[in-house]
Amino acid sequence: MLNWKKRKGNNYERMCLGCRQFRNKNYLVRIANLKDGRIIIDDAKKLGGRGAYVCPIFDCAIAMVKKRSLFHSLKRNLKLSDIKELLSELKNHMLWISGDLKRLW
Ligand SMILES: [Zn+2]
Repeated sequence: MLNWKKRKGNNYERMCLGCRQFRNKNYLVRIANLKDGRIIIDDAKKLGGRGAYVCPIFDCAIAMVKKRSLFHSLKRNLKLSDIKELLSELKNHMLWISGDLKRLW
């Protein structure tokens, strides 16, 4: 029934920046890049600006940062402090398989 083939132009599917699978966007966490430079979790998925999507799991969040796909998607570089802040924020939105952020640094 479900077809996970990569498709463009589908309204409901977005690519996770960590595992690069297309998934229903209701399942994904949206990260919004506000015009004032803040990076926030867009719970309502309604904020304007450039957005990035990631699965609500730790491994995808880590992969997204490690592969730098988050930076490419938002078209900006993030300071390490920004990334740490984002990840600790993400923690509240994710099903953490392993909550050890030290794996990153
Ligand atoms: Zn993923």
